[in-house]
Amino acid sequence: MPFSNHELFSQELDISQRIYLSPPHLSGEEQGFVREAFDTNWVAPLGPNVESFEREVCESTGAKAAVALSSGTAAIHLALRLLGVGPGDIVVCQSLTFAASANPILYQGAVPFFVDSEEASWNLCPNLLDEALSRLAAKGTPAKAVISVDILGQCADYDNLRTVCARHNVPLVQDAAEAMGSTHRGVAAGRQGAFGIYSFNGNKIITTSGGGMLLGDDPESIARARFLATQARDPAPHYQHTTFGYNYRLSNVLAGIGRGQLRVLGARVAARRANERLYRELLAGIPGVEFMPEAPWGISNRWLTHIQIDATKTPRNATSEDARLALEARNIESRPLWKPLHAQPVFAAAPTLLNGVADRLFERGLSLPSGSALTPPEIARVAAVIRETLAG
Ligand SMILES: *Cc1c(COP(=O)(O)O)cnc(C)c1O
Repeated sequence: MPFSNHELFSQELDISQRIYLSPPHLSGEEQGFVREAFDTNWVAPLGPNVESFEREVCESTGAKAAVALSSGTAAIHLALRLLGVGPGDIVVCQSLTFAASANPILYQGAVPFFVDSEEASWNLCPNLLDEALSRLAAKGTPAKAVISVDILGQCADYDNLRTVCARHNVPLVQDAAEAMGSTHRGVAAGRQGAFGIYSFNGNKIITTSGGGMLLGDDPESIARARFLATQARDPAPHYQHTTFGYNYRLSNVLAGIGRGQLRVLGARVAARRANERLYRELLAGIPGVEFMPEAPWGISNRWLTHIQIDATKTPRNATSEDARLALEARNIESRPLWKPLHAQPVFAAAPTLLNGVADRLFERGLSLPSGSALTPPEIARVAAVIRETLAG
């Protein structure tokens, strides 16, 4: 272990400093762009920072077009609107995710159909998806869209998901809210579906305090999204509307924060991956503890380091909830995995196709403090509490 017992012990005593799960980590470059917005009076939901931020995200990901928005949820909503999802339509969605992946299905008056995960990436299972799409088509109610999620930063199995979606002729929306900076076969996460979305919420790998982006390879669709996100104003000197829109654009001030953050995305991915490696080292050899696997098709940004705790195998039969409470008692924030949406009361009536993977992962899962500004002694402080709780 890289730290002596003395260091571990002295760190453990200093519990006045709370360790957060995934706090913002500023680069110092944000303020220059924000100041420019003030100096030029572009304090508005449009302006040079917004345009530059969109262009820079396209350059760094290879996407052909992108529109900066007020949230990742707004980006998913616009993708569904662009795909013509309407009242009564069925949209298949990964069950193991945050509610924001599926809420826009309800905004459109459509019906979510939750499908379970596979073991390699913990994301949407292509075989189950195939079965779900076949069943829906056979019933005469084919799915209008599919939403896959790159959970905790790891890309889903897009080779197979894309084949299945193409076979059934259903468009794929990729919720890459947690996966900015990850790759799938060398291609930036967010570029694997018809549309990809990012979130710049305060807890994501880079942040604008709040914000999101919709990207795609069809500039006309993205232009349409920009139009819908700006109250659907037709080109006319007066206010003219032939359809209804939303107020979903990102502020030029916040886009300045995003530009400063984007410059350090690579370093943030490296830091989060280093966190995960150190946790692996420090928690090695505890029976019943397993880390989230990395699927062979991609490189995860390791947005959150995540462990699975099998209480029947840990020396003290301690559960992930025992570990979470022990961490909380030492002023350390950790969090269970997303509770699957098929098990959420709000979605209780939704149809599902399940295999038990999401439920099992949820039951055993614990996400550990993963901020890119975490220090090795802080990680050691977290690891020591887990080791003590599970192995005594
Ligand atoms: C954060 C998140 C979102 C929503 O992003 P916001 O910018 O907070 O609206 C959607 N999906 C997943 C998987 C997320 O983690």
